[in-house]
Amino acid sequence: MSSDEVRRSLAVIDVGAVERNCARLARELEGSAALCAVVKADGYGHGAIECARAALAGGATVLAVAAATEAAELRAEFDDVPLLVMGALTPSELDLALEARSEIAVWRLRFLDLLERRAREHGLRPRVHVKYDTGMGRLGERDPVVVAKLVRAAATSDAVELGALWTHFATADEPDSAFFDQQLEAFRDLALELKEEHPGLLLHAANSAATLREAASHFDMVRCGIAVYGLDPFGEDPFARDLEPALELRSNVADVKPFDAGASAGYGRTWSAPADTWVGVLPIGYGDGVRRGLSNNAEVLVGGRRYPLVGTISMDNATIDLGPETEVEPWTPATLIGAQGSERILCEEVARRLDTINYEVTCGISPRVPREYKR
Ligand SMILES: *Cc1c(COP(=O)(O)O)cnc(C)c1O
Repeated sequence: MSSDEVRRSLAVIDVGAVERNCARLARELEGSAALCAVVKADGYGHGAIECARAALAGGATVLAVAAATEAAELRAEFDDVPLLVMGALTPSELDLALEARSEIAVWRLRFLDLLERRAREHGLRPRVHVKYDTGMGRLGERDPVVVAKLVRAAATSDAVELGALWTHFATADEPDSAFFDQQLEAFRDLALELKEEHPGLLLHAANSAATLREAASHFDMVRCGIAVYGLDPFGEDPFARDLEPALELRSNVADVKPFDAGASAGYGRTWSAPADTWVGVLPIGYGDGVRRGLSNNAEVLVGGRRYPLVGTISMDNATIDLGPETEVEPWTPATLIGAQGSERILCEEVARRLDTINYEVTCGISPRVPREYKR
């Protein structure tokens, strides 16, 4: 199926934009730092495999995911690309990650023991990334003495290979955050000490926001997700940072009908026509990931113009006010995220209206929405 065919909903992903975003990020990197493209959660809703392929073409050399199943999917497509599972693993998930020849995140000695046993059983010698919690307060070991112990244990093990020491920032997207500087300093202090003992130890810390704000956070590798997809890690205009949004969310005006003043659209009658008008019905709703919080709180592009989304969004439909005089005909394309002519609705605009972040908007586009790839 091609995009000129009318469909109730469609996400069009420009993999050329993903490739260019990666090339742009790779150019920004300090020294010889590598670009790891984060393609967890199906590439932030964009499609993990297609985006991973584009990211590799754009200069990424490592792929990172959160879950073992995600690593297994990638391994089936990419035979020899280094993969990193960043998340916590149950024993059976660990087996799956090892079968996928993934590198493994470690922050407990008990888990390192388990990893060593399983690695021997699999006849593999996986690389481990020791995670130092410098303040994110999520995964990782907080005590630098224990972190150093883990690094030494991995370095002297015959069952695993010492790969990296890494951390994750809690406030990289807050431009004035002093906490970011504190985390960076805590990481750098221990990292440089351990790198002296273990010259092969790789260091990585930066997500997209850190990569763009602070070259000193690049170390040996950066882990970029959101910026790969052309979304702004600071929730602002991605074009201002030379990033190209890769995803468009499209639907169409399936029906156009006249409303007398006072007639209402949708559940609960949250909107009534203030005057005689025409209403367009879009066959897309929260079942597709168009969140109900956008009810009476969004705009949609039709024919290159913005129209207000009116009434309550239902699971499968939403309505827009086309105004008292309209030339819009049934099956006219509608864009909920993306551009038509010179008008554009950014994912960041939708996120702001929902009081959330762009990440959640694209991750929330449901599997019912077919993905189509173009370049
Ligand atoms: C998701 C994630 C990233 C990528 O973050 P972005 O803000 O999307 O660039 C990096 N590191 C870890 C540990 C993550 O969970």
